[in-house]
Amino acid sequence: MTDLPILISGGGIGGLAAALGLANKGHAVTVLEQASSLGEIGAGIQIGPNAFHALDRLGVGPAARAKAVYVDALVLMDALSDEQVCAIPLDEPFRQRFGNPYAVIHRADLHGVLVDGCRAHERVTLRTGARVAGYDQDGAGVAARLADGERVKGQALIGADGLHSPVRAQVVGDGAPVVSGHTTYRSVIPTAMMPEALRWNGATLWAGPKCHIVHYPLQGWKVFNLVATVQNNATEAVAGEPVPTELVRQSFAHLAPRPQSIIHAAESWKRWVLCDREPQERWIDGRVALLGDAAHPMLQYMAQGACMAMEDAVCLAETVATAAGDIDAGLEAYRERRLPRTTRLQLSSRAMGEYVYHPDGARRLARNAWLKAKSATDFFDSVEWLYGVRGMAV
Ligand SMILES: Cc1cc2nc3c(=O)[nH]c(=O)nc-3n(C[C@H](O)[C@H](O)[C@H](O)COP(=O)(O)OP(=O)(O)OC[C@H]3O[C@@H](n4cnc5c(N)ncnc54)[C@H](O)[C@@H]3O)c2cc1C
Repeated sequence: MTDLPILISGGGIGGLAAALGLANKGHAVTVLEQASSLGEIGAGIQIGPNAFHALDRLGVGPAARAKAVYVDALVLMDALSDEQVCAIPLDEPFRQRFGNPYAVIHRADLHGVLVDGCRAHERVTLRTGARVAGYDQDGAGVAARLADGERVKGQALIGADGLHSPVRAQVVGDGAPVVSGHTTYRSVIPTAMMPEALRWNGATLWAGPKCHIVHYPLQGWKVFNLVATVQNNATEAVAGEPVPTELVRQSFAHLAPRPQSIIHAAESWKRWVLCDREPQERWIDGRVALLGDAAHPMLQYMAQGACMAMEDAVCLAETVATAAGDIDAGLEAYRERRLPRTTRLQLSSRAMGEYVYHPDGARRLARNAWLKAKSATDFFDSVEWLYGVRGMAV
């Protein structure tokens, strides 16, 4: 059975990172991606120093660094009063402390770096138009069942097929994701359309009551990435649906003029209704394991979903290699190492939304006072577990 490849359902950031990590350790890997071509929707993504540690371990750190924009600070603005609440500097002291920078990057660029890494690897086979419907297994191996009836055999199957993972449906069976009721509108605009006074080299968060706006430059400052979120009790999971410009403008009409001017700068928006899941311990079923959003989907408020998927990949490659042929032991060691950290992020992401991004009234004033009192060192200390190499659990 060891001649068989390790199968990966899903060719997103997590699946490709896992393919690369496993192939680097000498395994043959087959990625089964449902889409007819490999690609990423959406635009910008923030990646912390922990993601660069992971990319380095996968051997593609320099390629990713070349595509990133290095922001100077994480800035929190109060979107009602238009005052700066805090700015966490990301310059040399931050880089020295965490051993890597904080950056923003276009998703397609990050995904492209991983695609190129996989394509250059003779042990990785990338199959598109291959939609996994489920799996069967016996003591010796596993077969991925594709939607067209084909069965693909492997020594193990990694479910890296995202929020609505069919592999998770079989491993865990916990139904549909939890719909948060938060709707995110995303747009990308040429830098010339961004209000001039707001062309900051920072990842900027305008926090309003039950809503927020994020913006940062991307792709060598050619464009600005805009993400605007509102708690509107949406009940259905939606991903990438176009919405009327006027609807977005109305949703943020209660904010101060400057944050509103960001919303008015964009003409076309797409909508996502955010979902996550309750953390749970079951990630493994025999020779099948979950990874990335399939294992631990989280709200975006810690900007860590993709970072965690890449860390998972590094860890999985390491534990499977260390288990030296005992794949069951390798998968179990991976689960044990990754579960506490990713659970903490799922829960922290919800808490960040409630206590930092969206508080209203007295809670808003408490947030401002709490964050204004913090020094840069206080902020660095509070994210040591997340960005520091020792906390990574890989
Ligand atoms: C608005 C927003 C902002 C975000 N910002 C950040 C951020 O700043 N930083 C960060 O780190 N993370 C961020 N995230 C989270 C990040 O996007 C996800 O955590 C990450 O994309 C998960 O990667 P994945 O590979 O696990 O899953 P996905 O990206 O969902 O990839 C899954 C892949 O599997 C494929 N697939 C699905 N079903 C099947 C099937 N049946 N058979 C075969 N293939 C299948 C899909 O086509 C896809 O290619 C954000 C998310 C959102 C919604």
